[in-house]
Amino acid sequence: MPGTELFGAEERKEINDVMETGILFRYGHDALRNNHWKAKDFEAEVKKITGAKYAHAMSSGSTAIAAALAASGIGAGDEVIVTPFTFIASVEAVLFIGALPVFAEIDETLCLSAQGIEKAITPKTKGVCLVHMCGGNAEMDSIMAVVKKHNLILVEDAGQAFASSYKGTYTGLFGKAGSYSFDFFKIATAGEGGVLVTNDEETYKKADVYSDHGHNHVGAKRGMEDHPYLGFNYRISELHAAIGLAQTRRVPGIKEKNRHNKKFLQNILSKNKNISFAKLGDEAGDSATFLNIFLPDTNSAQRVVDEFNASGVAGFDYWFLNNYHFINQWAHLKNLSTVSKLPIQVLEKPQDYNKMQLPKSQEVIGRLISFGIRCTWTEAQMTELANKISACVDKALKSVNA
Ligand SMILES: *Cc1c(COP(=O)(O)O)cnc(C)c1O
Repeated sequence: MPGTELFGAEERKEINDVMETGILFRYGHDALRNNHWKAKDFEAEVKKITGAKYAHAMSSGSTAIAAALAASGIGAGDEVIVTPFTFIASVEAVLFIGALPVFAEIDETLCLSAQGIEKAITPKTKGVCLVHMCGGNAEMDSIMAVVKKHNLILVEDAGQAFASSYKGTYTGLFGKAGSYSFDFFKIATAGEGGVLVTNDEETYKKADVYSDHGHNHVGAKRGMEDHPYLGFNYRISELHAAIGLAQTRRVPGIKEKNRHNKKFLQNILSKNKNISFAKLGDEAGDSATFLNIFLPDTNSAQRVVDEFNASGVAGFDYWFLNNYHFINQWAHLKNLSTVSKLPIQVLEKPQDYNKMQLPKSQEVIGRLISFGIRCTWTEAQMTELANKISACVDKALKSVNA
């Protein structure tokens, strides 16, 4: 979680600007705010990095992906192809806007594959919610070919992939709209926050209205603004935006350090014949927030995890057993255990979530172990970590063969 490693004077300065005027609201109050517009500046900084035409900051990555889906025209009863490996927010967003998730297969990029998407298409498919996992990027050329061939709406959850790009285009900008998360665990944090990006003016305007009770933000009097559509409150506060702004300015530097550190670890670990690495759609665009290693199979990965725990190796995730990132532990989703009825429960379920088979995704996530890259690591720390990882893999796999 690199952003939080670098929390300092710059973040405090931006927060103090807001505290001095007391204007915590992102809209209006022009005379009182001393010209501080933190949400607007945060959005401008995101546009500067990604090249997006439009960016809209919101309360979270979850609300940003929900708004991206809605503003793209996806709603009740629409089938949306989703991934079994994601932070569950992207599936919840599909469900809570009333749409129907259809799970498809991922590949070694840790993202949905073009082939997986194509196999999941039915006459009712309206869109794809593509998630760029672990700081990387999906194989966009082949995915875009399928999206175009079948005339689907693409929405990208780049919650973990801010500042990651594919052949020069930033994640989030391939489809109708995309989203980034700035929660506490991402490359940059606002405390809580998210940003929607799009190159389409109409989609941006809908997202703007949708995320603030229908307000179109035209005119000087909030209570007299026009409301072209119904919306809800997904607003970000100026305090959160202030932190997000300071943190986002650090991202180009963080990314460079991350990439250096990831390469450094990979150089050592690639000497171990039992370790390989997750693929990237485009290695040159990796934001390198995670080092993703593959073991030969699920059984050996689980033995390696046990060995890491026994030897005190920390800072890794074994997503296969994680309650929030992989479908195997999502009984609440499979059984649709909800606090109150959702559209999917009065419409037709598109898939039997308890019976569907995703063997490729099982195989890929079963042998994946991810280490969060720290941008403040020294070379000595990284050498020690890589050597420990390698030794644990040797020990765990030797006991398998014995
Ligand atoms: C973090 C994350 C989210 C949710 O973001 P929040 O800001 O925590 O709401 C959504 N999707 C993915 C892939 C994420 O990693």
